Amino acid sequence: MSGGLRAPPRALVAWACLILAACGGTSEEGPGPAEGGSDIEAVVTPDATVTDSLAVGALNDDLVPAQLTADVGIYLLDTSSPRYVERMSPDEVLRRFGVAKEIFAGVGVQLRLRFVRFVRLTPEVLEIPANVMAGEPGGRVDGLYDKSRQQRSTLSPQAEAVFEAIIEPDSLNDRTVYLVGMEDVLMAWFRQEDDGSWTLQSDPTNALSFPSYTLEDRIPRRLRGVITIQNIFHTEKIVAHEIGHKLINVSHEYRDIAPEHEVQAEGGLMVYGEGTEMPAGAEGRWHLERLLRSPYLYRIGPDGRRQYNPDYRESGHYADPIYADSIVGSLVVR
Ligand SMILES: [Zn+2]
Repeated sequence: MSGGLRAPPRALVAWACLILAACGGTSEEGPGPAEGGSDIEAVVTPDATVTDSLAVGALNDDLVPAQLTADVGIYLLDTSSPRYVERMSPDEVLRRFGVAKEIFAGVGVQLRLRFVRFVRLTPEVLEIPANVMAGEPGGRVDGLYDKSRQQRSTLSPQAEAVFEAIIEPDSLNDRTVYLVGMEDVLMAWFRQEDDGSWTLQSDPTNALSFPSYTLEDRIPRRLRGVITIQNIFHTEKIVAHEIGHKLINVSHEYRDIAPEHEVQAEGGLMVYGEGTEMPAGAEGRWHLERLLRSPYLYRIGPDGRRQYNPDYRESGHYADPIYADSIVGSLVVR
């Protein structure tokens, strides 16, 4: 995508931010090593060891107990791999987390940073496939969210093994958003050719939000809050945008712009460009209402305990009943 930072060594053309809500911008299309997207290689059982952490207490000094809050944990890699070091500066991760804090504070949602931990990870899994497609495209299915339901993106076995190794077991796992630094995460997606046929493709990404509207419950529940970031420099709002995919549970869309794999436009948090708006109402595609119903959000009650929003009632798809009427159109693929 034009306007991005210097191209990473392997990127050829940047354009799509596709079905899995790749991005923070875009995925960088290249000759993906897992061409075809199928996860045919043996799964490596990774080892992940926490080697260091940062003090984050001061970053939470502004939090108000009665206000809607999302917990965020950050895992960064302890590696000397040049590609990772170049694209995942811890200082920039924290700075962009601060940008996200401000953006969400603007609509009354707090981000609480639970921790920043550094993890030494088996080097063979610095690059992983994100997903496999359990369904097939085709037929008279229109609209990105319907297509997502039909194509049934599923967390890849290798990604599951890596996230299981990195994300420490915790009673709040399934209500916490995790930002996980990775070197390369390859996203499988179906591309429609000019003749109408479909090609399964696999491309590197700058970030991936593993949102419920694509994965639904095809990701272990305790891992459902995972977001990977591969290039923190990609955009100023990269952390906020990815958290938006997770909490608003939408793809790239804004006001009269229907959801697409990639949308370059100004104004909205959920399109590319510098905009940060999360508009309300039908004309705003219900972004604010959807955010405020996210199962990841809670308030601290009088007893000092977290009172979470109700959880998804189906699988967390775009039109899950928790959103009531805060959806645009209706899904055909049920
Ligand atoms: Zn995106």
